[in-house]
Order: sequence, then C-alpha cells, then structure tokens
Amino acid sequence: KRRLQLDGDMRRNLSEGGMHLVYQPIVDVEGKLHGCEALMRWQHPIKGFISPNEFIPIAEESGLINIIGKWTLFEACKTAKLLAPYGVYVSVNMSAHEFSRAGLLEDIEGMIKTTSVNPESLRLEITETTSMDNPDRAMSRMRDLRSLGLETVIDDFGTGYSSLSYLKELPVEILKIDKTFVDGIAKDVDDRAFFESIVNMAKSRHKKLVVEGIESPEQVAIVAECDGDYIQGYYFAKPMSTDDIIQIAASETVLPRS
Ligand code: C2E
Ligand code: CA
Ligand code: CA
Repeated sequence: KRRLQLDGDMRRNLSEGGMHLVYQPIVDVEGKLHGCEALMRWQHPIKGFISPNEFIPIAEESGLINIIGKWTLFEACKTAKLLAPYGVYVSVNMSAHEFSRAGLLEDIEGMIKTTSVNPESLRLEITETTSMDNPDRAMSRMRDLRSLGLETVIDDFGTGYSSLSYLKELPVEILKIDKTFVDGIAKDVDDRAFFESIVNMAKSRHKKLVVEGIESPEQVAIVAECDGDYIQGYYFAKPMSTDDIIQIAASETVLPRS
C-alpha cells in the first residue's frame, strides 16, 4: 500500500517541485574538488524525508524512473554548465532501465544542446550489476555515449561480481569502489589487504578510482597510501545544495578535513 501511495505521490511531487538534487563533492586525497555526484532528495509533504533507497526502486518498478531520470539529467546538465568554468564535473546516477532505454542518446543530445553544457562536464554512473546484466549491450551503449563526449562510471564496483575479463574491455575511465569494501580498512588488516588488491586490479587496467563512503582521517591516509585517486565521503563533505557546491568550486579551497 505504501509503495502504491508513494508512486502516486512521486508523480505529483515531481511536477510540483517537491524533489530536488543535492551534490556531494568528489575530491582528491588532498581535498581539492574534482567533481560531484548528483543525488536525489524527496521531501514528502506529509511523510517527511524519504530516502532514494526507498523511492528509486519503486519508480523503477512502475516505470516512473524514466520521467524522473530525464528530469534529473536536465537539472544536472544545468548545474554542470555552472560548474564547468571551474573544471568540476557532475556525475549522474542512472538506473538499469534508463541506461538501456531506446531514445536515451537522443534525449541526452537534446539536453546538451538546450543547456549548451560541455558533455565532458557530465558523467553517467551505472552500477556494476547494470553493466553486467548484458555486458555487450552495455559496452556498446558506453561507446555511443563516449562518441557524444560523455564518460560512463562504474558504480558500486566490487559488488556485482563482474567477470574480470570484462574489466579490460570496459570503455570506462573511472570505477567507484563500494563503501562495503572501505568500512573496515582502518581496523582490520584483512579488509585493508582486500581493498588494496581491488585498487591494484583496477590500476593494472589503467582505471582511476573513486573511493566512496570515507568517514575518517585513517581511511583517507590508507586510500592515499594505496594510490587511490579520488574520495567521496562524509569525512570531506555531505551532499549539499547547488549554491554551496558552486561556492566551493569558485573558492578553489581545499575542503577542510572535519
Ligand atoms: P549511490 O549511488 O551508491 O550513492 C552514494 C550514497 O552514499 C548516497 O546516499 C550518499 O549520500 C551516501 N554516502 C556518501 N558518503 C557517505 C559516507 O561517508 N557515509 C555514509 N554512511 N554514506 C555516504 P543517498 O543519497 O541516500 O543515495 C542512495 C542511493 O540512491 C544511491 O546510491 C543511488 O543508487 C540512488 N540514487 C540517488 N539519487 C539517484 C538518482 O537521481 N537516480 C538514480 N537512478 N538513483 C539515485
Ligand atoms: Ca552513485
Ligand atoms: Ca555507490
């Protein structure tokens, strides 16, 4: 019942402005801003804050995700245009359904034209599971996107059991290591060794790594020692408004370590 109700409310709230995007900084190990991830927020008029972990799967099931996805992409294009002068990109999450949708490329092309954003300021994140669903189809789509100037990022890397042979062929530059592989690195030598082996594997294929869910200075130090490239996590910054991310980009300051 809740799912049905949320689906209906989502349809209304999206057009009435009840949803918005926030942006979480992606920094290098020194704290310098490199990009950000667009994350959806829904403040329900009665039920209060609802997590994307709850409403995105509902939207995927009902098909509403295609409308939400277009809205998100368009909003992200506008923010990417504002951040482009500072060399900061915006990374947008994309569900499996949207990624394989016919018409996606035409839609993106249209949005790039309308917002006159440089496609290099925009990235698409798809999960490893999405890419492994049908690897050949996913790789062909990634190549088409690349021909438009857009890079694809593999999200939640390590959770989808991707065949290692595909890692070599994947037309992507960036992998995001899932938080589950990071949580224990400062406390458990085995977790640290495992994390290091994932980093080395990716490096041997010349991929850059974003390490997600970093919450402590000890974890930052380990990422730096293991030669990880970029960090996204509450330690540096939580997701923030468009105005705030622009201000950080414009000030070129290194994010303080809280
Ligand atoms: P994700 O793509 O893996 O996004 C990262 C999630 O980890 C975000 O949660 C972020 O706020 C959280 N996070 C980042 N750093 C830390 C940290 O240091 N500690 C902890 N505990 N968490 C951290 P969020 O915003 O709740 O998003 C959850 C998921 O919802 C996302 O996971 C993504 O799968 C989905 N999602 C969010 N926005 C969109 C969207 O616009 N489209 C689609 N298709 N999915 C979205
Ligand atoms: Ca993501
Ligand atoms: Ca992730």
